[in-house]
Formats: sequence, C-alpha cells, structure tokens
Amino acid sequence: MKTQAQVLVAFKQPLQMQAFDLSPLGEGEVLVRVTYAGVCGSDLHMASGEDPRTPLPIILGHEGVGEVVEVAGEKRSVGGRTLEAGMPILWNRGVVCGRCFFCTHGQPHLCPERFVYGIHRGVDVPPHVNGCYSQYLPLDARTDILIIDDVPAEHHKTLVTASCSGATAAHAFDHFEPAGGETVVVQGVGPLGCFMLALARDCGAERIVAVDLAAARLDLARRFGATHTLNCQETSAQERRQAVRDLTDGRGADAVYEAVGKASVVREGLGLVRPGGRYVTAGFGQPGGTMEWDVFADLVRPDLRYVGVWVSHTRHMERAVALMKRNLDDFARMITHTMPLADANAAHDLMRRGEAMKVALEP
Ligand code: ZN
Ligand code: ZN
Repeated sequence: MKTQAQVLVAFKQPLQMQAFDLSPLGEGEVLVRVTYAGVCGSDLHMASGEDPRTPLPIILGHEGVGEVVEVAGEKRSVGGRTLEAGMPILWNRGVVCGRCFFCTHGQPHLCPERFVYGIHRGVDVPPHVNGCYSQYLPLDARTDILIIDDVPAEHHKTLVTASCSGATAAHAFDHFEPAGGETVVVQGVGPLGCFMLALARDCGAERIVAVDLAAARLDLARRFGATHTLNCQETSAQERRQAVRDLTDGRGADAVYEAVGKASVVREGLGLVRPGGRYVTAGFGQPGGTMEWDVFADLVRPDLRYVGVWVSHTRHMERAVALMKRNLDDFARMITHTMPLADANAAHDLMRRGEAMKVALEP
C-alpha cells in the first residue's frame, strides 16, 4: 500500500507530492486515513526555514483528523475504548515517552523524547511517513487518541484546530484563568487568539479586548466573545494602551494573553497589564526576537506574573474539544478554505498573504 504526501525538500521551495510505501504496522500502531490536515502558521515558518527544529526532507502537517484504517493488536483511546477500523479520530500531535520525570510529574509536554508529527521527524526516520500532509499516516503506539464519533461528521473538519491552537490556548488558561468580571486582552486573534477569547468568555470575563491588524479577524473575534476590538492599522500603541485603561478605571487589564509570537508585541502587551496582573505568552512556536527588561519597572514594581506557555498535552486537547463541541458552528468559521492536498503550495501562499485564517487540506 502506498500514500501520496507533500514533502518539504528544501526551505523556501515549493512542496513536492511524492509517493511512499506504507510499512507493516508494529504492535499498538494505528494506520489512519487523514481526512483533513490543518495548515498551521508554524508550517509556513518551517517551510521558510525559520524553525530551527526542521529536518529535511519532511512531510509537514501536525494538525490532523482521520479515520482508522487498521490497528495492529489492541490500542485504546484516551477514554478507554478499543479502536476499530472506520472510527473517526483526533490525536495529540505530540507523542511522549510516558516514563521520564516530566511525563510522571504532570508536565508531559516537556518530555525530552517528545516528538510531533510533521515537525520533528523527517522522511528518513521510520516509518518515513511522519506528517499529516499525507493520504495515510501511521500513528506511533504511544499516540493519545480521541474518538470523535459524538461530533457530527460535517464538523470533523472543524476539529482540525483542536490539537494545536485549541490545545495551546487551553494550556495558557491552565496557567492562568481570569475570574468572573475581569478584563482580558488577547493580542492577535488568529486561531490561537480566537480560542483564547472563547476560553475567556467561558471563564466569565466581562470585558474581552481583541487586538489585531486584520479587520476580518476582528469581526470574527466578536463571535468568540470579544466585547471590544482594537485594530492596529487604525490605532497607535499609545491609543491602545489608553483604550484599555479607559475600560478599567485607569488600571489596565487583569490578564493579557499573547498569541502573535513577536517580541515587540510582548513589549506592548506588558504595558496593558494592571499592577498585580498576569501576562501569558503562548504565541511563540519559534524564536520571535528579543527584548530588554527593566526588571524593577517592568516586573518587580508592578508585581507582575509573567508566564511562558510551551505547546500542550492531551488534557488540553480534550478541553479544546469540549469547548468546541458547545460552539461548533462558530469554530467552523475559523476554517476559511478547504483545498485538496495537491494544492498545498497554493494553501501556503494564501496563508502567507493573510487571505486565509486556516486552510484545511483534504488528502
Ligand atoms: Zn500548529
Ligand atoms: Zn517523557
């Protein structure tokens, strides 16, 4: 059996469709027919060589949903059900060892052996097909899998964002949750930021401010709970700071969540937090610049809690799915384009030009 997959052969070059032989499965491995693969902003960074983790050549794609084709031996879902051919599934993009210090101390996302489909393993690593931009994907026996047969089939595509941006947003809220009545700012309202808005609304935040430079994203942000929007094309940093102060009796926001991945955005965001507030940065999937801290003025004197968020683990993916199940029609709008796998390069171009919020590729 063979699979067609889109391969990144060299940075800044178009992906190439190639055929791969699928090797026989090992015990506990699951062969999936990928029904949809999400195109993530990280894929674009990888394709242009900005992500230092990228091995070449590689099949990109860490966001996928699919259908079980074959299971070798027995494999259970996270919920304990035995996986069978034909079941629709979603899986944690990261696979961990389950035995190290971090795996056994509630922080499996920091496992030193963690690998992510479509990010860490090139085509030279068996089973060679290691990314979701493929018709078929063999899942490692340690992959955490959710069966999604309780979600209507037309919304399986919607769930493609759950294991990456959804889970990372849930992880950010695991670090810090706003209390009811509080004021939250979300910087950047692409998929990650929209999940943050929805989580803030779920927590009962009263004023939720979305900041972005695209009017279309700010319109969508209102669906996910933004009560106020600030367009960076139409306002200066000083005006945005004033707008947040005006909403909070001059104090600043109780919590600011960053979903852009640029140091300059962090610099601005720190000025939006009230004394005693929290700044949660989750937008950096790769290096995004450096900044200088005045430790006294920026951190100590305002009694600021600053938290960095790195990726996510299975519990976060489950929380994202639970959130999505209550708002499937809204989350479906996040996927602005659906294209065949053969058009992966055109999909990347659309995302790069900012014309698509999220493309789902259909292998
Ligand atoms: Zn992603
Ligand atoms: Zn581990």
